[in-house]
Amino acid sequence: MATTTLPDNEIIEAKPATTKPTTTKYVYFFGGGKADGNGKMKDVLGGKGAGLAEMTNLGLPVPPGFTIQTEACREYMRHNAVSKDVDRQTEEALARLEGLQGQKLGKGENPLLVSVRSGAKFSMPGMMDTILNLGLNDQSVEALAKRTSNPRFAYDSYRRLIQMFGNVVLDIEKSVFEKIFDAKKRQKKTKFDTGLDAKALQEVIAEYKKAVKKHAKRDFPQDANEQLVMSRDAVFRSWQNDRAKTYRRFNDIDDMLGTAVNVQAMVFGNMGDTSGTGVGFTRDPSTGAKEFYGEFLLNAQGEDVVSGVRTPVPIRELEKIMPDVFKQLHEITTKMENHYRDMQDFEFTIQDGKLYMLQTRNGKRAGLAAVRIALEMVAEGLITKEQAIFRPEPDQLVYFVVPRLDEEDVKLENVLAKGLPASPGGAVGQIAFTAADAVKMAGHGSEKNSVILVRAETSPEDIEGMVSAAGILTSRGGMTSHAAVVTRGMGKSCVAGAQEIDVDEKKREMRVKGQVFNEGDWIALDGSTGRVIKGKVKTVPPDPNDLKLLDKFMSWAEPHRTMKVRANADVPRDAIKARELGAEGIGLCRTEHMFFGEEKIKHMRDMILAREDQFIPKALAEHNRKRGTRLTFKELESVDQSEVKKRAQKVARLAALKELLPLQRKDFIGVFRAMDGLPVTIRTLDPPLHEFLPSREELMVNIATLPYADAKRKKSLVEKYKDYGVKAAGDLKKILPELLSRVEQLHEVNPMLGHRGCRLGITYPEISEMQARAIFEAAVAVAKDGVKVYPEVMIPLTATLNEMANQAAIVNRVAKEVFKEKGRSVEYLVGTMIELPRAALVADEIAKEAQFFSFGTNDLTQTTWGFSRDDVNKILPTYLAGGIIKQDPFAVLDREGVGQLVKMATELGRKTRPTLKVGICGEHGGEPSSVEFCYQTGLDYVSCSPFRVLTARLAAAQAAAGEKLQGDAGRTK
Ligand code: PEP
Ligand code: MG
Repeated sequence: MATTTLPDNEIIEAKPATTKPTTTKYVYFFGGGKADGNGKMKDVLGGKGAGLAEMTNLGLPVPPGFTIQTEACREYMRHNAVSKDVDRQTEEALARLEGLQGQKLGKGENPLLVSVRSGAKFSMPGMMDTILNLGLNDQSVEALAKRTSNPRFAYDSYRRLIQMFGNVVLDIEKSVFEKIFDAKKRQKKTKFDTGLDAKALQEVIAEYKKAVKKHAKRDFPQDANEQLVMSRDAVFRSWQNDRAKTYRRFNDIDDMLGTAVNVQAMVFGNMGDTSGTGVGFTRDPSTGAKEFYGEFLLNAQGEDVVSGVRTPVPIRELEKIMPDVFKQLHEITTKMENHYRDMQDFEFTIQDGKLYMLQTRNGKRAGLAAVRIALEMVAEGLITKEQAIFRPEPDQLVYFVVPRLDEEDVKLENVLAKGLPASPGGAVGQIAFTAADAVKMAGHGSEKNSVILVRAETSPEDIEGMVSAAGILTSRGGMTSHAAVVTRGMGKSCVAGAQEIDVDEKKREMRVKGQVFNEGDWIALDGSTGRVIKGKVKTVPPDPNDLKLLDKFMSWAEPHRTMKVRANADVPRDAIKARELGAEGIGLCRTEHMFFGEEKIKHMRDMILAREDQFIPKALAEHNRKRGTRLTFKELESVDQSEVKKRAQKVARLAALKELLPLQRKDFIGVFRAMDGLPVTIRTLDPPLHEFLPSREELMVNIATLPYADAKRKKSLVEKYKDYGVKAAGDLKKILPELLSRVEQLHEVNPMLGHRGCRLGITYPEISEMQARAIFEAAVAVAKDGVKVYPEVMIPLTATLNEMANQAAIVNRVAKEVFKEKGRSVEYLVGTMIELPRAALVADEIAKEAQFFSFGTNDLTQTTWGFSRDDVNKILPTYLAGGIIKQDPFAVLDREGVGQLVKMATELGRKTRPTLKVGICGEHGGEPSSVEFCYQTGLDYVSCSPFRVLTARLAAAQAAAGEKLQGDAGRTK
């Protein structure tokens, strides 16, 4: 067989495929009760292929066929062609299949028809391509019509093949075929596909063939073997399509795995009302309840169910229509669940009353379901507790922290529709109607907007939009539709198949209950009940009953964990929340965030701006006293006014700091109390100062336009700048230019690499002094009340031993002073963040003064890569899409680069100080693969946002247990 699929100009490097005979087994047969492969061979056969082999070996009714293994796909990726061996073995397997079936592919009175499906090691629902009814051509379609006495069915199958083949193999837009089909329906005055009779379908086929000729510049291939080879290669190519790449990136699946191709004898669910097709789960994938769960369609073909084009009926209905088939299906799937010891997701087809199993595999499930199924399977004796702890993905535990809709805020009259509860949790956001709009509206990074993607149905092309959206609403499709399956995997709220809603994507409109909703309107989804609600509904924390399940599950995982998990929390409220979720301390309290409150930010700004004017007399008096002079400020002009100004600035700063001290002390008291008995790491001030200042550009504009401002505008400016001493419109003219001049002085081209971190505490030691005082005064105060307090003072952004020594000296001196003043002392540590490559390189030196290290991997990633944390999204999408980098290094710790620095600094630091405590407090501290890396590197703790504490705890437990059990614990992925 020759590969003729790519136009010549697309073949980049069509190296001659190897002609040497090899012993590689590329093709694995299954059928007649026996398979060459088995269920363990997912690497080779892909999940689907391994499942088909296993089911065949278990004697289940599986249509026979063969699997072309993943190595052939990798070969295809390398050479744009498969080797002669693959072709030869495919031919041999086909001959064997023909022999077993007593049929010939696309030939004779009873032609063999096959499906060609992708199937990678990890399930990638709908991301790659499938072709059904392969083998049909102008002759075999007649034979099929005659044999089944059902010409309508035969022509419908043929037109579907041309449509799928045209789109997948020949790259013709789907819409080309859809237009022809819709026009025919209009012409025949029917709304439904089933309204087209055999003759109409024959006309459609003729037009489809013309369309193929026009768009692909070739005829639809009549040779069934050519169809097979072209389809096989197209499936291999689909591994590299954009949506498959995006899906792999989001799910952390290796690009080099490749897909297998499954060629299987067709069975037909669309042969009339004794036929059908369906999908299901052995347990409820949303809640985990042990209920046989699924849906099916009579007289339909496979893709009709999952694509969401027709809304299927619950599987219980099958019990009424075909009780024997239902019983058999239930028995088989239960057997498969017991066999795999995991919840199964299955596909079946009924052809003329006979059941065929097309697939069963471990099913995707929501976070709640993952925990519940793990618990119940242990109770049922199917798995051990050790195996159970690997069942949920650590990220899935976010479900137990995510909000639900606040029922008090849900007014009955605002419930717009009820769809299927496809993926639990509440989501509130603004409507976007296309995936591209959702991406745009959601934005990137910390300023993400909450968006609900509303579609008639989602398709794999929507994946980027689904990643960006907070929740998904579809008007069509069932519990196993694309939207439902994908969101459950993502842990995102989804309502599917809300049929009352009419979605007009072109007009960017959603109509329901006589109301029209446009892009940007707020709606809420309840993925647990299926409700769609109008407005910006409030949300509340998770259900306490779910938390009971979680507690039990965690009580099994926790004993394995050796690495501690702390939280990053800045205010008492977050610290309390973090402790409830199991945080064993605070790993990072960003003190500057304590100042974001209304009354505090004013003092913080005063401190940064330190406007000296009112303190000049005081500074001048000091100056004169020191020098024994009696000069006026004016007289000083020619001598040294700057000295007095500097001094006045410091006095101004001290005045602001004096105001801040009690506020900060109060917050520390709250955090220490919340963390009674646990360590609290407090970082001294590290703000890139621009975060606290008015915008320079805005000030310039406001000054320039002030002469033209009307009363209303002036009023708004007074309000805007009231924290800077503007009390009335008359002040604007004087204060705004002064403010601008100070902002100009402080302006930095790159504040992230500027006057921040320990550099601030070194140039303005009084800031570190005030903070140390607030920390120790708070510590002593709570200790007096019996609270066990362990402050760890952390110096940010050090690069040298001297910087560390400078700041440690201040902290230690103030500690001594406070302990003496208060007549009481507490234990404490002084350490540093490692955020600069230089710090990692000289960690042995820095450890002479630092009693602990905490890796600030947000900055360490920024400074190692030279990527700006704030602007990287201009580059990242291109890099990720092009495979230049595999993962966002700000999300997943880059083991090769940043990871090496982490490892090196840990080792160097501990060489100097064997007791050195080492942790991580960058965002990576809550990301499962990074947590695993930290465990392997021997860190004492990870610290992350409160909502990721559960995830980090499970990831740390899995890392330790996996090592202990040497991988036999059975992770699903
Ligand atoms: C870090 O850089 O990783 C860190 C935790 O500090 P911040 O994010 O506050 O810069
Ligand atoms: Mg930092």
